[in-house]
Amino acid sequence: MDMKEIKELLGSPKNIVITAHKNPDGDAIGSSLALYHYLHSLGHKTTVIVPNEYPDFLNWVPGENTVLKYSTDTEIATSKINEADLIFTLDFNHLSRSGDMETILSEVSATFIMIDHHQQPDSYAKYTFSDTGMSSTCQMIYHFIENLKDLDKIDSKIATCIYLGIMTDTGSFRFRSTTSTTHRVIADLIDKGADNTSIHENIYDTNTLSRLQLRGVALNNLEVLPEYKTAYISLSQKELDQNNFKKGDTEGFVNMGLSIDGIKFAAIFIENKKEGIIKISLRSKGDFSVNEFSRDHFEGGGHHNAAGGKSILTLSDTVEKFISILPSYKNVLNT
Ligand code: 5GP
Ligand code: MN
Repeated sequence: MDMKEIKELLGSPKNIVITAHKNPDGDAIGSSLALYHYLHSLGHKTTVIVPNEYPDFLNWVPGENTVLKYSTDTEIATSKINEADLIFTLDFNHLSRSGDMETILSEVSATFIMIDHHQQPDSYAKYTFSDTGMSSTCQMIYHFIENLKDLDKIDSKIATCIYLGIMTDTGSFRFRSTTSTTHRVIADLIDKGADNTSIHENIYDTNTLSRLQLRGVALNNLEVLPEYKTAYISLSQKELDQNNFKKGDTEGFVNMGLSIDGIKFAAIFIENKKEGIIKISLRSKGDFSVNEFSRDHFEGGGHHNAAGGKSILTLSDTVEKFISILPSYKNVLNT
């Protein structure tokens, strides 16, 4: 990574906007706020703007109360974007992933810096830091600060934010993307003040009764197709409403299917009446690429073993389409 130009750019005070993908997750919020605190310490005027709201279980992250949501804070967010000299786009690599912010982001003349770990990056940014082997954008932020020779600027707030995204994107340090370097970074973050036990509790031990009951509904709806080593779950808007659904409540549900012995491919289909779509999450083990599968059939993408997409068919037609595609993957799913 040649950081000379970046160092120069950041050498004088700038107006900076940091943005992340629609439906921000732990890595999107963690990386945005880690970079926010770091740039703030360098003396820049920095604003984090995300496309829309994020789950309540992220409401404790340091600096979270400063985050603007474009969907509801449109006016102030628009002026911040228009004033920006630099725009960092984090944890996504195609402007369409920024939802309703896509238009304004593609029109402004600010210098774009992308930091991301998803596959097939687009080329909208002047500076592209893309590493598809990285556990998380948060780990990339750590290395970004490291390459700027500023590791000593990582305080407990920055350490907490970075820890959060590495933890959520690695399934708590278990996915293949977790390397010995990831663990060394995590060790350093704990030394710098990340309270690991609290971070895990804040994210994973905040269930509500209705969320647990929704998990029960999802488990009840789980279907297994042994001949394709596939498991899938569907949740209708009615089932969500009956269980007091709030954003983030279905996070991780798709992994229940993948945890079944012998299953290599898992999907969840979640009806969203307001957006008129079925939101799809896909997970796999081993060689089967859900990134490619999602790109080819469900207008999405992501990583090799974790991707997302959508469908504008009804819930049952979407599931039917999914099942009808599987025979062409029978061989790869059975090797
Ligand atoms: P999740 O299933 O947890 O929402 O997302 C899994 C991964 O796929 C994440 O890295 C996420 O950023 C990515 N992803 C989710 N939905 C979409 C989508 O509609 N398009 C693309 N390109 N990536 C997605
Ligand atoms: Mn990520």
